[in-house]
Amino acid sequence: MSEDYRSMWQNLGLDLVAHDALLGVLGKFYQDIYLTQQNRPEGMGYFDFVMSEVHGLRIKELLDEKKAGRKIIGSYCVFVPEEIVLAGNATMVGLCAGADFAMEEVEKILPRNTCALIKSTFGFKLGKVCPYLEASDMIVGENTCDGKKKAYESLGPLVSNLYVMDIPQVKSGQGRALLKAEYQRFKQAVEKLTGVAIDAAHLKQAIETVNSKRQAIHRLSKLRQADPAPISGLDALLANQVFFYDNPLRFTDSVNKICDELEKRVAEKKGVSPARTPRILMSGCPMAVPNWKLPWIVETSGAVIVGEESCVGERGTRNLVNASGRTVDELMDAIVDRYFQVDCAIITPNPDRLNHVEEMVKAYKADGVIHYGLQFCQPYLMEAIPVAKALEDKKIPTLRIETDYSMEDVGQLKTRVEAFIEMLK
Ligand code: SF4
Ligand code: SF4
Repeated sequence: MSEDYRSMWQNLGLDLVAHDALLGVLGKFYQDIYLTQQNRPEGMGYFDFVMSEVHGLRIKELLDEKKAGRKIIGSYCVFVPEEIVLAGNATMVGLCAGADFAMEEVEKILPRNTCALIKSTFGFKLGKVCPYLEASDMIVGENTCDGKKKAYESLGPLVSNLYVMDIPQVKSGQGRALLKAEYQRFKQAVEKLTGVAIDAAHLKQAIETVNSKRQAIHRLSKLRQADPAPISGLDALLANQVFFYDNPLRFTDSVNKICDELEKRVAEKKGVSPARTPRILMSGCPMAVPNWKLPWIVETSGAVIVGEESCVGERGTRNLVNASGRTVDELMDAIVDRYFQVDCAIITPNPDRLNHVEEMVKAYKADGVIHYGLQFCQPYLMEAIPVAKALEDKKIPTLRIETDYSMEDVGQLKTRVEAFIEMLK
């Protein structure tokens, strides 16, 4: 890493020794999991580059944007609308973290039985290793699951710029009204932060930018319906993860380039694995960088992942915002309409999610579903039981996995996953 980056990290207040250790582990993990894959599309070279520079060049770009007067807004959830952020001349970055860090410190603030995603968020703050968090001018928390809701109360005193958004938990008229009111309040907060009054033209443009980003991912997903699958689940997951960090226009372009390449592969019936390799749909909790453990186990056990029913995946990217409105009010309503369809397990009851899992099984010709629940995640672990039952009733084999970010259970998980895949053959 260049000296420039080191001084940049130091100026952001990072702990350089701890940060070096994190980058060392991340680099090794990436090498072992990603770069050992066979038959990767050439376009993935872009994502390899992004990952090698995820704390370097991308952070420098964000700091350059800040110097030019733009604000950076960090978010932990796909309910936070990027359209409003972009329309206010700010940039949004994802802050969700996928690795254990500074756990001893974390467990002084949070109970041990908190999900790994929340603990990791605190570990990255307390260990001073996340440049995205430190570069953010506003950090948006959202009242979704109980764990996050209460954790934001403890995160507040650790940062100077936490903004908390309320999210409905029921899909009713009142639920929609709450989401609308909260998006209006968020719009005002963004305007206050940036000093920019959001008008219809900018909101429309922002909607189109985010729609294009989602459409590129939709195109990628559709190509994964082919047998043989033209891209590994690990690589597709990486694209879904980078969705939250990269410059939106460049991201859209890069995903579309991969799709051009994959279209040729599909036409020539070339895949990352032979035709009729068992096809898995992953469903459940989001997988933030560098949480690649389970997909790596699945894809080194003789199967290919063809879709993710997850917030880092299709739950997060499906449905576009209707950009045809002419006023700020009409466009804001269209934004509310789109986000109100997100079927996170915090919503009760949540039949939409079950329907979506079933639709995805059909569309991606999945042979089985692996439900991924993070230990101590009540919403997804509880929902996993009726979801698995409904799938089994329809003769769709389902494996429920409960795990965390540690590597301690790799052997045990591999045994279970291999047995499941063997059964699908
Ligand atoms: S799982 Fe729910 S709380 Fe988590 S990012 Fe998705 S919508 Fe937000
Ligand atoms: S994984 Fe579950 S418990 Fe953890 S933040 Fe997401 S919804 Fe909450």
